[in-house]
Amino acid sequence: MLVSELLFEKNSIGIKMVSPDTPLSDMAVRLQRYNVGVLVVMDAQEQLVGIVSERDLVAVVAAGGRDFSALLVRDIMTTDVLTCVATDEVAEILDLMNQRNIRHMPVVEAGVPKNILSIKDFHYAYQELQVEARTDHLTGLANRRRFLELMDQEKNRCRRFGSPLSLAVLDIDRFKLINDTYGHDAGDEVLREFSALLLHELRIYDGIGRLGGEEFAVLFPHADLDGAAVACMRIIDALRRTIMRIDDQDIRVTASIGLVQMAPTGDTVESMLNRADGLLYHAKNTGRDRLVVEESACQSVA
Ligand code: GH3
Ligand code: MG
Ligand code: MG
Repeated sequence: MLVSELLFEKNSIGIKMVSPDTPLSDMAVRLQRYNVGVLVVMDAQEQLVGIVSERDLVAVVAAGGRDFSALLVRDIMTTDVLTCVATDEVAEILDLMNQRNIRHMPVVEAGVPKNILSIKDFHYAYQELQVEARTDHLTGLANRRRFLELMDQEKNRCRRFGSPLSLAVLDIDRFKLINDTYGHDAGDEVLREFSALLLHELRIYDGIGRLGGEEFAVLFPHADLDGAAVACMRIIDALRRTIMRIDDQDIRVTASIGLVQMAPTGDTVESMLNRADGLLYHAKNTGRDRLVVEESACQSVA
């Protein structure tokens, strides 16, 4: 994410300026009038010479011992100001601000300050970025990266508690045919409705993710194969009953599921996913629209 996007999101209205020779009482009036916490200090040649904030003002008053009415902005402003440009990366600037304990960062354009951003603005944007990087944009579910993180956390937690952990990998059947028949946009809508159905049928602490394409995964913390199989069959049954109404067309889909449980020792996120994939493949090869559970016969339901 670039600084320019952050300015756009913030709906930024630019900066307020002050001269180095402005008395502090005038500066205080401006802060209040403009309802801002920081002012950019520009000299007569329109060069940036510093920034001065509400906090600087408070610090002077709190320190006492100085004739407040005789002080000017230049007496309290910060002069070694770091600036950024619109094409800088938000993450890099945030790093720099943290390292140097900087609270405000003017954004300059051709050497002229046009905006000022606070560390809060950067933090907020950064958190949004973190969430975005882990979210699947089409469905709003956890993306593959986030799901793998979640699996790793749950794996460790369930091991600590000595409780079971099950993992299901789900793949929509003949999805290519949906795209070919109804179009890619309708396919996207099917993926969204499928996600909504998963959310509806599962408990809130079951982790749901989109691994990619029309492949999804569900993590069942504290559930063994029997418990998780009930939930998986609930999904299969709900899908069979569901008619998706998309662009005035009735669309039905089914899904195949492979279900595994974490082994008592040595199991990893990758090995669990691989085993679940293998069972999913088996479900596809034995007719689709079914659940195949680890170490058990193919539990197809006619
Ligand atoms: P199977 O039952 O064996 O799983 O068959 P399938 O057709 O579902 O599987 P295949 O892997 O042949 O096709 C998956 C299709 O999913 C192909 C790809 O274009 C489509 N697809 C992947 N991601 C998206 C997406 O985000 N939106 C849409 N509309 N289609 C997607
Ligand atoms: Mg498929
Ligand atoms: Mg697939």
